[in-house]
Amino acid sequence: MPDVDLHTHTTYSDGKLSPQELLQAAKAAGLSALALTDHDTTDGLPEAVAEGAKLGIRVVAGVEISADYAPGTMHILGLGVDPAEPAFAEALRGLQRARAERNPRMLAALQAQGLELSWQDVQHEAGGPQVGRPHFAAALIAKGLVKDFDEAFDRWLGKGCPAYVPKVRLAPDKAIACIHAAGGVAVLAHPIQLRLEGKSLEEQIARLKSYGLDGIEVWHTDHDAAWTKLAEDLAQRHGLKASGGSDFHGIPGRAASLGRPQVPASVLDALLAGRA
Ligand code: MN
Ligand code: MN
Ligand code: MN
Repeated sequence: MPDVDLHTHTTYSDGKLSPQELLQAAKAAGLSALALTDHDTTDGLPEAVAEGAKLGIRVVAGVEISADYAPGTMHILGLGVDPAEPAFAEALRGLQRARAERNPRMLAALQAQGLELSWQDVQHEAGGPQVGRPHFAAALIAKGLVKDFDEAFDRWLGKGCPAYVPKVRLAPDKAIACIHAAGGVAVLAHPIQLRLEGKSLEEQIARLKSYGLDGIEVWHTDHDAAWTKLAEDLAQRHGLKASGGSDFHGIPGRAASLGRPQVPASVLDALLAGRA
């Protein structure tokens, strides 16, 4: 059975490819299944499912939710969700509303710093309904105001920078609960981004497990061999299932390529087995 990729983005969040284009890329990469995991939205699913049916690729309904956390980043994937489930849908709508309120504040902060950037410039980079910091970064690059993505975040958009506006996030237990309400499996994405090690890492994983976390991403573009092994051990120690995906955004210059690292189809079967 060909491989799967359980972490991907489209133009419905911060990816460059439409759902149709993403599925065609999955076909070219020889994948048997693909999870669509756009940030805070499942709106790309109908198009992805339709294209998947044409191409003979299974589409798993997913989402990536940003949870409230410091010092690093905590993203929780919901896989196999029912997008129509009311509590889940309302939680995502709340996150969308928060984004809509945050963007004008970021733009105003950039303009207050003397950067000549318009809302049209930012929207132009989005190519879809959802606008976020990566699009601001792309617009700053396009206008020649920064040289690359890193400079955009290090100088203007990152935590603590002049145009940083805190984002409304769900508490980790709430994120897991709303994924479960929608019948999905909750998976901690790229645990390397928690920026924890040793005892504090173990404790954080144990806490998430106590909230009902089902799985952890073992295979991810950001994980080197040592982190892949560590995540595998964490899964084993804490009774979590293993998941994996590329975190493909289709953005030139960003490392991820679809279907890499390789994830066997059996991983998807194990993840979705025994779901309520
Ligand atoms: Mn992203
Ligand atoms: Mn993420
Ligand atoms: Mn992602």
